[in-house]
Amino acid sequence: MFADKSLECQGCKKSFVFSSSEQEFYSQKNLTNEPKRCPDCRLARRMKNTGKSMDLCSQVPCDKCGINCLVPFKPSGIKPVLCSSCFHEAKISAASTG
Ligand SMILES: [Zn+2]
Ligand SMILES: [Zn+2]
Repeated sequence: MFADKSLECQGCKKSFVFSSSEQEFYSQKNLTNEPKRCPDCRLARRMKNTGKSMDLCSQVPCDKCGINCLVPFKPSGIKPVLCSSCFHEAKISAASTG
């Protein structure tokens, strides 16, 4: 089984957690490379690649675990916001039910 792993982001040099659920997700997708950047840097890169401004991003607490996460939109306050690991977990548990 997978265990949470601490990796160093090549972008901001901060360490981030490559969670067991993310590792599971990666292996399901046959992705053998570990993420080189933390979720924040990955998002920043994605925003840049799609030509969107980081101004659209906001830092909000995850509805599930409470950690601050960066999202590529302004939260409406209606929908709960999940951090990337809770989002993956929700996706995986949704996929594995039934
Ligand atoms: Zn980073
Ligand atoms: Zn979370």
